Amino acid sequence: MTRRGAPRDPAGIGMTSQRTRGRMVERLRGQGIRDERVLAAMGAVPRHLFVEEALASRAYEDSALPIGFGQTISRPFVVARMVEALIAGKQARKVLEVGTGCGYQAAVLARIFLEAYSVERIRALHERARTNLLGLRLSNLRLVHGDGHAGLDKAAPYPAIIVAAAARAVPDALLRQLSPGGRMILPLKSGRADGAAQRLVLIERSGRGFAETELDAVRFVPMEAGKG
Ligand code: SAH
Repeated sequence: MTRRGAPRDPAGIGMTSQRTRGRMVERLRGQGIRDERVLAAMGAVPRHLFVEEALASRAYEDSALPIGFGQTISRPFVVARMVEALIAGKQARKVLEVGTGCGYQAAVLARIFLEAYSVERIRALHERARTNLLGLRLSNLRLVHGDGHAGLDKAAPYPAIIVAAAARAVPDALLRQLSPGGRMILPLKSGRADGAAQRLVLIERSGRGFAETELDAVRFVPMEAGKG
């Protein structure tokens, strides 16, 4: 794995330029993404700064890319789709993300929500995300090294929770930390085997309980227990 030397150019050139990012946004519109806040955030965050330098020219393609430690950054459409379903046209106040990874989605969230928290279990990734995010000056984003199964008590409850790794069941702590009226989106494994099918699930908390809606079939890395 290559470690980065000098900070890279946030403006980018050629395949990492604002124009390339604009084309990604147009593609997202074509794929059905409608929320202008999501499109504007994805048009603003320099995704090429979050992937290995050798892959920077592919950062705006509609594909998942490796970010080290066996983890991947989701493809732009999946990020947009999840964030759009999470905010559902409503005011975006506070969000908790589980699975910071390289920090890309956290940056998108921090451009939309007033307050954003993101938890990552692998210390080295948590630190890399911090480095990746340095130049972006997102003072409303807090990164935490921890196991997302426990959520993040210190800023709970959250009107919005988004999970970037697939679990077999919704962690109890996340259900507890979801505000009444809040929405959580997460990939859940539906079968027993390791390569089992996954679905995006939307959970809405009302005064009476939780309602679950199944969305698209997806493929995420597994949610693991404990800190790494
Ligand atoms: N949103 C990320 C996607 C990262 S992939 C991005 O934009 O890059 C999913 C991440 O979830 C991985 O970094 C993985 O280490 C992390 N993860 C897996 N299980 C976790 C857990 N229990 N708590 C916190 N993070 C976890």
